Amino acid sequence: MPFSQTPVKIAIFDLDSTLITTANGNLHALSPTDWKWWHPSVPNLLRSLVNCNQELVIVSNQGCFTTADGAEAAESLLFKEKMDAICHELDIKITIYAACSNDGYRKPRMGVWDVMAEDFRFDKGVKVEAYLVGDAAGRKSDHSDSDVHFADNLGIEFSTPEEFFLREKSKEEVGHKFDPKWHLPTNRSGTLNYKPSKNSLNTNNTTQFSTIPNLLLQRRV
Ligand SMILES: [Mg+2]
Repeated sequence: MPFSQTPVKIAIFDLDSTLITTANGNLHALSPTDWKWWHPSVPNLLRSLVNCNQELVIVSNQGCFTTADGAEAAESLLFKEKMDAICHELDIKITIYAACSNDGYRKPRMGVWDVMAEDFRFDKGVKVEAYLVGDAAGRKSDHSDSDVHFADNLGIEFSTPEEFFLREKSKEEVGHKFDPKWHLPTNRSGTLNYKPSKNSLNTNNTTQFSTIPNLLLQRRV
């Protein structure tokens, strides 16, 4: 199938410790209002990306959003309310994917990319250019390397929040707690390694909240 001439440009951001941090300084938010921007420059920079016709996407690993009996957990309600407040303040088109189980949607695995492919139609021949910004970069002080590995798995450009928002070179080297290159041929040249899955999930473009198994989708249009 031929690619369309105009590529869709997708700016992918991690959420916690990339776009926002807790207002109280704790690791996890205690209420829907317990958040602040990671840096004051973040909201205007995000708006400028949308003004440059980039699709803004947040991909976040979260905890379990369901209780043992299958009901919606308080963490899910807190997250959705917090994201509503963030989206309201940004007031731009934005799509949020929150992986809430240890399955194929969780970074650095690429299940979310299958959903994005349908949402942004690059499974239908639309060319895509994407990059990712995240704090889980495998640096010595990082809790994880899931963001840099997600970018590696997709073969897209990666930046830390310091590099992207502050134009500062990271004080610590971006690295790996585990290196996928030990096992997979990957590159960061911008050539996507992604191949569409035959079993990717359907989403509804008009729905504000849509829960598919273990993946919370939230969209502001
Ligand atoms: Mg993070």
